[in-house]
Amino acid sequence: MKQFRYFLRTLKRRLFGQPIPKRTVMVEELPDRLHPNCVYIAGEGNYLWYAAMLCPCGCSATLHMSLMPEGRPMWHLKEHNDGTITLHPSVWRKKECQSHFFLRRGLIEWCNYRSELP
Ligand SMILES: [Zn+2]
Repeated sequence: MKQFRYFLRTLKRRLFGQPIPKRTVMVEELPDRLHPNCVYIAGEGNYLWYAAMLCPCGCSATLHMSLMPEGRPMWHLKEHNDGTITLHPSVWRKKECQSHFFLRRGLIEWCNYRSELP
């Protein structure tokens, strides 16, 4: 059912030329190559370790967001009925590309403007 809802949502967005939400992939171990339109959730059973994705700016860095309560910083993950996720708080790379964004319902919402960067 989630798959079907995801399919309908992405189909609608494709028709209107809108960005496609990232697909959520549950893994025990990260694959060697991450797909740019996926967000990976690593864990075992009900225990979630971290979310990982390629930096959406295109710099090809892999971002890891800890989901473990004892981790600092840590993120809260909310799963929606189409299988996409929302991460809270925002993701902010303090080095290199400085990307700062929210992942909401699988979509990237930028907090900073890339054009301001050198
Ligand atoms: Zn980046």
